[in-house]
Amino acid sequence: MEGKVRVEQDATLTFESGVVCDGPNAEETIDAQGGVVLPGFIDSHTHLVFAGNRANELEMRANGKTYQEIAANGGGIMSTVKETRAATEQELLELGLKHLTWCLRNGTTTIEAKSGYGLDLETEVHILLALHHVDAAFCESIQDTAGSRVIPTFLGLHALAPEFVNRQKYVDYIVEEVLKVVAGAKLAQYVDAFIETGYFTPEDATKLATKAKELGLGVRLHVDQLSDGGGAKLAATLGATTADHLEQTSQAGIQALADAGVIPVLLPASVFGLGLTKYPDARAMIDVGLPVVLATDFNPGSSPTPSIPFVMALATRYMKMTPAECLAAVTVNAANSLGLTDRGQLVAGQKADFSVWPLKDWCEVMQWIDGPRPSQVWANGVRVN
Ligand SMILES: [Zn+2]
Repeated sequence: MEGKVRVEQDATLTFESGVVCDGPNAEETIDAQGGVVLPGFIDSHTHLVFAGNRANELEMRANGKTYQEIAANGGGIMSTVKETRAATEQELLELGLKHLTWCLRNGTTTIEAKSGYGLDLETEVHILLALHHVDAAFCESIQDTAGSRVIPTFLGLHALAPEFVNRQKYVDYIVEEVLKVVAGAKLAQYVDAFIETGYFTPEDATKLATKAKELGLGVRLHVDQLSDGGGAKLAATLGATTADHLEQTSQAGIQALADAGVIPVLLPASVFGLGLTKYPDARAMIDVGLPVVLATDFNPGSSPTPSIPFVMALATRYMKMTPAECLAAVTVNAANSLGLTDRGQLVAGQKADFSVWPLKDWCEVMQWIDGPRPSQVWANGVRVN
């Protein structure tokens, strides 16, 4: 179904039965009541589907326990893996839909979503299938026949599965067994790996990325989050689409991203969520011409927020990004990082994805911290919140 939308100067939106922004040919009119209208946000790094929560860890942290101590006591990512493995595919679907509504409420209308809380074939497939079903349900509700509202990434190398002692054997299992099933059934568009001391090495990521490319999948990587492990250069060498996190990346690493055309996806809410102080050097990235992307890293542990406005609020305070740079980072640049050219801007020919805010100035969306929510959210010309 094709349709048309007009954004009038008095902030009145006009559209015709869904889908495509257009100018004077639109038929239906929405009263934005003098508010601010922005493109639907594109959150290009989330861990949307997981079971359980980590609320019990707040008290442990208040009592001085470190992230590592909490993990050693059965908390952290392994507690989420345990609960996710115990959930049925239907339960995972319902959790995914619940989390999707949290994103929509904050003005997000397209999401990249990673698996990685299964760490075995059965659960990884369950999570990826749940993501497909969340996408299908959302697309059906907004009559978007093109799909691609929840874009799945196979995060096979997120942590060492508890039943493996030998990391190398686990990497071989993921690359040789699980990835083949995932690619064969077209369950993911990208692969991902967490490259960090104590997790996975550049050699592990190279194995995964090489096989993924053979199988026709793209590569996104978690790199340089807690230490500068040369992850940016690795992402450049592997021809990754994105390098995500980059809190510790050196200037040479930033230049390598620029030279190779790898898109940086920055996740300031994870820095905040871990109580850390070193944010990624967005200014240096923008200065070498990189199209910086901001995303939530929504997950139950390090970054428990679905809020793009909160992420922009952090980026304006701690990363010296201007409001305009922040807005581009969660709309047009984020769309680019997912290969999407039909959304992210309020111009003729784009999908009618937009939010209406009860504010006078669009900069207020990131000026207020955990402030107003959009009064209306539309995806494909259909109101979703
Ligand atoms: Zn992440």
